[in-house]
Amino acid sequence: MIKKKPAKKSGKIPPNELSGGRFFTGRLIKWHHSGNNRQMPWKGEKDPYKIWLSEIILQQTRVAQGMEYYLRIVKAYPTVEQLAAAPDAAVFKLWEGLGYYSRCRNLLATARMVCKTYQGKFPATYQQLIELPGIGPYTAAAIASFAFQLPYAVVDGNVFRVLARYFGNHTPTDSTAGKKYFTDLANQLLYQTAPGNYNQAIMDFGATICKPQQPNCAQCFLKTKCVARLNGWVHQLPVKEKSIQRSVRHFTYWAFDYQGKRAVRERTSGDIWQHLSEYYLMETDKLIEWDKQLVSEWLIGQGIRTFQLEAISPLYKQSLTHQQIKGNFITIRLITIPTFLQHYQWISINRLKNRAFPRFINQWMETTEMP
Ligand code: SF4
Repeated sequence: MIKKKPAKKSGKIPPNELSGGRFFTGRLIKWHHSGNNRQMPWKGEKDPYKIWLSEIILQQTRVAQGMEYYLRIVKAYPTVEQLAAAPDAAVFKLWEGLGYYSRCRNLLATARMVCKTYQGKFPATYQQLIELPGIGPYTAAAIASFAFQLPYAVVDGNVFRVLARYFGNHTPTDSTAGKKYFTDLANQLLYQTAPGNYNQAIMDFGATICKPQQPNCAQCFLKTKCVARLNGWVHQLPVKEKSIQRSVRHFTYWAFDYQGKRAVRERTSGDIWQHLSEYYLMETDKLIEWDKQLVSEWLIGQGIRTFQLEAISPLYKQSLTHQQIKGNFITIRLITIPTFLQHYQWISINRLKNRAFPRFINQWMETTEMP
């Protein structure tokens, strides 16, 4: 049964969360030693240089992509001194393709600062680490706990998600109150005896079990006390204040056929679906509820007097990151080619499958019997 959501919470961490927290931390550490088999080349690493390098790479890169770069840089520069002495251009070449090049600039700046100010040894305090270029609270906590066993919890979107779900907390994780609340909670939950293991465990748990889209609740070792699971809130949490606002665009695609061929053009730059193919597109402020009468009126308005209306599709939708596309497809058989379609390419209908169309069009084509 879905229970009513409690009021948002913020501020002090209530005692019941801390008692549930003992179970949380204990089970997480147990799983880390007996069931956590996530493999990464830097896992268990104690060398602060390699930990730092892996964390900088992972700041804006997925593990699978970052792994190759990590191995490549460690091979070329096994120590921070070697990296610090490398020419900028050589390091940028190794970084090529990874993007967010400010990370690479900071990598060089930090390596040189570690050599100059700390004689080639990474500083062993959180405060000194966080002052190095490109090192924020998450990276400083990771290095401090993995390399020096200092009690700093890593806190990022993964950790927020896990905590919001397990404790059933609806405070927006991107609000000031939420950030403070979850950061305090994460530090309260930290396993002081082995903070590095705890941090690794919660990161791996968020990446492999309590995943954003399809958490594996059935196999989860926390499921008996997970408030989100017990209340049916798993997919409502974490709450975000600034959820992405999607603008809605309304498309009508006209599939104009003429003697077994269809009018197709390539989308130009400056909008979604660059360089993919499309049919004649009409974009409107509002959704148009097309019927036979309206289609005829519109075509006549375009100078098309003789035609055959083959079909008006149901409404199709597609959600992109910042936009939602809604629209219909109207198939028209032409007797002559009107002026406004003369610059289109006319492609045999049975060869359309060789062209690259956006998914929005493909999903309609897949359900349509081509004439
Ligand atoms: S039961 Fe599901 S939502 Fe709860 S902690 Fe486990 S994976 Fe996450």
